[in-house]
Amino acid sequence: MTLTLTNIAKTFPGGVQALLPTDLEIAKGEIVSLLGPSGCGKSTLLRMIAGLETPDAGAKIVFDGEDVTRQSVETRKIGMVFQSYALFPNMSVRGNIGYGLKMQKLPKTEIEARVNEVIALCRLDGYADRAITALSGGQRQRVALARAMAPRPRVLLLDEPLSALDAALRSQLRDELALLLRQFGITAIFVTHDQNEAMAIADRVAVMSLGEVAQIGTPEALYRNPATGFVARFVGDAMPLEGRIEGDRLHLPGGILPLPGPARGSEVLVRAEDIRLDPQGPITARVETVTFLGTHYRIALSGASDTLLIALHSGLSAPQQGENVRLSIAPEALLILPKGVAA
Ligand code: ATP
Repeated sequence: MTLTLTNIAKTFPGGVQALLPTDLEIAKGEIVSLLGPSGCGKSTLLRMIAGLETPDAGAKIVFDGEDVTRQSVETRKIGMVFQSYALFPNMSVRGNIGYGLKMQKLPKTEIEARVNEVIALCRLDGYADRAITALSGGQRQRVALARAMAPRPRVLLLDEPLSALDAALRSQLRDELALLLRQFGITAIFVTHDQNEAMAIADRVAVMSLGEVAQIGTPEALYRNPATGFVARFVGDAMPLEGRIEGDRLHLPGGILPLPGPARGSEVLVRAEDIRLDPQGPITARVETVTFLGTHYRIALSGASDTLLIALHSGLSAPQQGENVRLSIAPEALLILPKGVAA
């Protein structure tokens, strides 16, 4: 299903502008993540697509050419997956999956056929009669997805489904969720505040800030060409290099860094993976902490910029805490972005 949102905005009673007027087009079978910090309006946007929240006047929500702006949740035919899945713990897998179909009063044989279909699709064969409490985290996720898919929704909406899980399970289920959504081939919108989750699951990510979509694009496009400092910080943890720009040079506390061109009025950011330990580098810094992470070292550096910089170093050994080192950053690795853009 293709989803077209035009001029969708939300002001809550009391004047809180949770979402500024936004346009968004999502292609059939596309998986889009709404990514942003708490309060940026991502849940409000999702809830308006679901029909759980009414947008301000002038909005238009179109599912495959059909205007559903004024339709109820039930008639929109959406599937929803919530935080921690909200499964019925005392019901069997089959009971959970068939619940919505029963509510729709579908014939028994139809319910059975559909339940069996999604059980196979979600690799739950052999678990149908188990209680939810007797399932692993991964199996529970598959039941939640099967339950959402059983009524054959036009679009699947997922609101922070992984955020209540512990870190290890979370990263494991992230990849499985990405795989299952692609196998379903369904159009899906996924809310998260976790950049890794958004990058791992979505075809395109809409980065949101202060009630606005700051940028929408593929994970690669957002990482390589962030439109604002906010996007660069949020996707790939870019760090600001705070200093004085003079022509095509950035004067930092630790030295003078060449820029790819004149950059007056811009903000300069860098990512940890682009800071090199280089005896010939133009910047000096002091090593504050060194953390060995298996494939690389994570080094916190002071004195180069006004705030601590983190460098990732993949050599066989690392400098010691307290040592002075020199750094270089390739001019093309610097992110030069308009200053003072909040979003
Ligand atoms: P979180 O991750 O914390 O849920 P979010 O990005 O999903 O954040 P929203 O829940 O969409 O953000 O909220 C956006 C803004 O709208 C916030 O300032 C929030 O306080 C406000 N808001 C949300 N729901 C209501 C409501 N029912 N009444 C008034 N204000 C609301």
